[in-house]
Amino acid sequence: MAVLQIRLEGDPVLRQKAKPVPKVTKRVTKLLQDMLDTMYAADGVGLAAPQIGISERLIVVDVGEGPICLVNPELVHGEGSVIDREGCLSIPGVYGYVERYERVVVTGLDAKGKPKKVDAQGWLARALQHEIDHLDGILFIDKATGIARDAEADESDENETAASSENDAGNTNIGKEAEQS
Ligand SMILES: [Zn+2]
Repeated sequence: MAVLQIRLEGDPVLRQKAKPVPKVTKRVTKLLQDMLDTMYAADGVGLAAPQIGISERLIVVDVGEGPICLVNPELVHGEGSVIDREGCLSIPGVYGYVERYERVVVTGLDAKGKPKKVDAQGWLARALQHEIDHLDGILFIDKATGIARDAEADESDENETAASSENDAGNTNIGKEAEQS
C-alpha cells in the first residue's frame, strides 16, 4: 500500500498528453494499486496517473460500485448529455458544472492486461470522462461553468451528496436541446 502525493493545478505534468502504456507489467499493476490507495485516502472517486506525476495512460475509478482500473482507456461511444457538478483532487475546494455524455462505453486493458469494456451511465460515466480528460492534459475547469470555491458553494447549500442524488434522480437536468426525437 502506498499513498502518493497528488499533483496540484499549476504542475506542468497535468497539462501533458500522457503516453500509451506499451505493456501491463508488474510495475503497471503496482502503480494502479498505488493509485487506488491514493484515491481512497483522498476520498476521491477517480484518479489519473498524471495526478501522481506519471504521464502515462492509466486511470482508476470507484464511484461506490467497486474499483475499476483501466490501462490505455479509450472512449469509444458516448450518448446523451448531462450537466452536473464536479470537482478534482488536483484542484481542491473548487467545483463547477460540466456537460458530459450521460452514457459512455470505454475500452482498455485491466490491471492484468486483459481487454476490458466498461458500459457506464450516470456518475460512473462522468468519472470516466473526467479521468480520460486528465490523460489529454484537460482539467474540468477548462469546460466548467459556474465555477465556485468551497466557501461560495456552501452558501448555496450544495454538497457532494446533493449533486450525486440529483444525478440519480434521472435525467431531469439534461440540456434543453437534448430532447428525444
Ligand atoms: Zn481530476
